[in-house]
Amino acid sequence: MMDNGKNSRVDGLRILIVGGVAGGASCAARARRLSEKAEIVLFERGNYVSFANCGLPYYVGDIITEEEKLIVATPELFRDRFNIDVRPLNNALAIYRKNQEIEVENLKTCTKYREKYDALVLAPGAEPIRPPLPGIDLPGIYSLRTIPDSRAIKNWIVQSKAKKAVIVGGGFIGLEMVENLVKHGISVAIIEMQNHLMPVLDFEMATPIHKHLAAHGISVHLGDAVSEFEQNNNGNLRIKTRSGKNFSADLVILAIGVRPEISLAKNAGLEIGTRGGIRVDERLRTSDEHIWAVGDAIEVRDYVTGEWTVIPLAGPANRQGRIAAGAIMGRDFKFRGVQATSVCGVLGMTVASTGVTENVLLRLGKAGRNIAYEKVYLYPGHHVGYYPGAKSIAMKLIFSTEDGRVLGAQAVGQEGVEKRIDVISMAIQKKATVFDLEEAELCYAPQFGAAKDPVNIAGMIASNALRGDSPLAHWEELRDTDALVLDVRTPSEYNSGHIDRAINIPINELRSRMNELPSDREILTYCSVGQRSYYAARALRENNFKARNISGGIHTYENMEALM
Ligand SMILES: Cc1cc2nc3c(=O)[nH]c(=O)nc-3n(C[C@H](O)[C@H](O)[C@H](O)COP(=O)(O)OP(=O)(O)OC[C@H]3O[C@@H](n4cnc5c(N)ncnc54)[C@H](O)[C@@H]3O)c2cc1C
Repeated sequence: MMDNGKNSRVDGLRILIVGGVAGGASCAARARRLSEKAEIVLFERGNYVSFANCGLPYYVGDIITEEEKLIVATPELFRDRFNIDVRPLNNALAIYRKNQEIEVENLKTCTKYREKYDALVLAPGAEPIRPPLPGIDLPGIYSLRTIPDSRAIKNWIVQSKAKKAVIVGGGFIGLEMVENLVKHGISVAIIEMQNHLMPVLDFEMATPIHKHLAAHGISVHLGDAVSEFEQNNNGNLRIKTRSGKNFSADLVILAIGVRPEISLAKNAGLEIGTRGGIRVDERLRTSDEHIWAVGDAIEVRDYVTGEWTVIPLAGPANRQGRIAAGAIMGRDFKFRGVQATSVCGVLGMTVASTGVTENVLLRLGKAGRNIAYEKVYLYPGHHVGYYPGAKSIAMKLIFSTEDGRVLGAQAVGQEGVEKRIDVISMAIQKKATVFDLEEAELCYAPQFGAAKDPVNIAGMIASNALRGDSPLAHWEELRDTDALVLDVRTPSEYNSGHIDRAINIPINELRSRMNELPSDREILTYCSVGQRSYYAARALRENNFKARNISGGIHTYENMEALM
């Protein structure tokens, strides 16, 4: 029988929760569902609990027009529906572990008081990083974390009649803000320190985003960082970068990441991990047996690599809140770790990923933790080509060469992107292999997908490679191979642009022209996206040539050209 945790030991527990949004609010509500007798008090230093941080960019962009819509649950609802004592504007100042007490300041009355706990849950979130740059506190420079932040940005846009904005940082929040500032008719420049936007992707998977933003008139400045802010005589901001560029703007959004909020935990002597988050075990218990921690403030294991990591996402925070409540109530719940499954939309483009990137695997390899992997690139339509409106999805699948286990996937496109990543995310969580993706039975009707869904195709390409039927090659290999490079596209495609050293034999002529090819030298085939060149490589291998197919064809080459 399943463990239902019914246990008089947990009845009447006094549970205090610090932080009243994603992790804290979920924990409180779940704790009540598991025990009618527990006393649950939730402290939030801000004015709002249980609000939708993820909706804030869309409130700035006036997609969400009413501020109340951002409030998921009010203190009154927590009281009436769940019998939970929610205290907004109450800041937890210190933890006295020996006495199992916290000290709290009521920010309305400026009075301090103490509360005892049997179980304490820390869900204090993270704080936006604001580097101590000259001018960082000038008016018009904002981070986005809370409802008041978003209100202030909206007011500033109106007050300053903002026409130009600079977004510092090209991750999720940066890109979401691009879209929402553009909705106000503001022209946007992004400054990003890395050599590509969206650090959760590999370089070549971010290239389509760079092109998409350029097509929408967004200027993207990579490999550069802000060094200083100044105010012009006309009140505008001047933004200087390390490379010597100057930008002027009415508004600056700082979106360079967040740092776990650990001050309470650190001052109380709780263990802090190497990634700067509160260290917890599988049951989300900290180094103190009476204290749990959840959400952006903690560090947990990466589900794929087993490394400690900090992943500030709403899904994990909510699930962790739920699991911590279960753990406090004596249930046998464990957190599996994070795989950083995420999605972001920008100006009609969807960017999604799950699991590890190749960058991470390369970094681990350099640190002596080598995970043998292979990757495939593909560009399938989001549904069958004969049904109007098919849009291509750029996909990259990374998998273990030892057992075919799926390690990560990235996808960029306009439609059906997150659906594929969600399927692969579940595959990763169930430790499935590329052979499972090959066999996955997924929904299909012409307007939704294809009889061979992009997920199946990714699995098929990878399985073919692992079985040795169609070994893959990659563009970066061309740096140090003297293999013959064979372009199997049509002559007109070839003439419109090809790899310097490639010869052209169109796929439809290949069987009659195999005598032109060397049998003692490796042949790397390519086409536009890797499909025709797969047919070519198979035909060549069946005729005893040493052929491999370059994954993703010219499309991938164009996306990684800057690195070649
Ligand atoms: C603009 C924006 C957009 C986002 N979009 C997405 C998205 O699309 N998808 C996604 O997965 N994630 C998104 N996130 C991330 C997601 O919101 C966070 O991962 C999630 O809210 C973390 O939950 P949490 O409970 O750990 O922290 P939070 O939700 O930040 O809650 C922590 C709360 O604790 C309070 N607190 C801190 N210290 C104390 C103290 N000492 N006493 C009392 N209260 C305290 C804080 O005031 C805060 O309200 C977004 C975040 C932002 C800011």
